[in-house]
Amino acid sequence: MNNIREQIKDKKKIVVKIGSSSLQHSETGDLDYIRLEKLVRELCDISNQGKEVVLVTSGAIAVGKKAVNLKTIEGQTQAEAMAVKQACSAIGQARLMMAYQKLFSEYNHVAAQILMTKITIANDISRHNAQNTFRELLNLGVIPIVNENDTVATDEIDLSFSDNDFLSAIVAAIIGADLLVLLSDIDGLYTDDPNKNKDAKLIPYVERITDEMLGMAKGPSTDMGTGGMSSKVGAAGIANDAGADMVIINGDDMEHINQLLAGEEIGTLFKAHKTTHFHLKNYLDR
Ligand code: GLU
Repeated sequence: MNNIREQIKDKKKIVVKIGSSSLQHSETGDLDYIRLEKLVRELCDISNQGKEVVLVTSGAIAVGKKAVNLKTIEGQTQAEAMAVKQACSAIGQARLMMAYQKLFSEYNHVAAQILMTKITIANDISRHNAQNTFRELLNLGVIPIVNENDTVATDEIDLSFSDNDFLSAIVAAIIGADLLVLLSDIDGLYTDDPNKNKDAKLIPYVERITDEMLGMAKGPSTDMGTGGMSSKVGAAGIANDAGADMVIINGDDMEHINQLLAGEEIGTLFKAHKTTHFHLKNYLDR
C-alpha cells in the first residue's frame, strides 16, 4: 500500500475535478474565493513541477443563478426549467472563467477553456479534434479548464454527461492521464454513509470495484452538485480501465492535493488496470 502511494509522486499527467459544493459557500451559494485561489495555486505548482495538469470544474449553473439572483420559478414546465438552466450556465461559465483567468494569470500561468458534450466523444471527428486540442494546449504549457457545455447539452436528448465526475473520467481517458483526482465534500469512499452511521469506515484502497462497493456508494451528499459517491465510483470504473489511478480526497482543504502528490495516504485510491482495446465510446451509455 505504501508503495502504491509512493507511486503517486511519479504521476505526470493529472486531471483534477472540483464540484460546485467545493467551490461555493454552503450558506450563501457565492463563490469561495479563498478556496478557489488555493486550488489555482496548487495546480500552478503541479505545472511548475513539470507535470501536465487539467482542471475539470463545475459551478457554471450555480454561479449563473447567483449572478441573476434566480429563485425557483413555480409552475415551470420541464422544458422551461431546462432553458433557464442553460441560460444560467451561459452566464455562470463566463463568470467562472473570469475568476479562473485572473487567478491563473496572477501565478503567471495561461489557462484555456474547453467545453464538451457527449457528442464530442461519440463523434469520431470531434473526439479526435478534442484530443488534438488537449495535446497542443498541454505542449504549450497551458492549463485546460473543462466543463460540460451545459448551454446545449440537455438530459432529455441524451447529450449530457449528467455529472462532472463522469466528464472528468472521460477527460482522463481522452488525454491518457495517469491520475484523476476528485475533490469531494467527504474524505473518500466509506463502508456506509458516515453522516448516518458513525461506525462507517474510510476505505483507503480499492484494487477492484465490486458490486458490494457500488452498494456502499450512496447518492449525492449535498444539493449543490449533481454527482454523489455512486457517480464517483462509476468514474473510477472508466478512469481505471483507461489506465489512470483515481483518488477521491476532501476538497475542504486544497493542501490535500499536494499531500496526495507527496505520497501521503489520504482519501480513497482506486487502482488503474488498463483494459486492452479500451474504447471510450463503449463507456458513454450510463
Ligand atoms: N456542468 C455543471 C455546471 O457547471 C455541473 C455538473 C456537476 O456538478 O456535476 O454547473
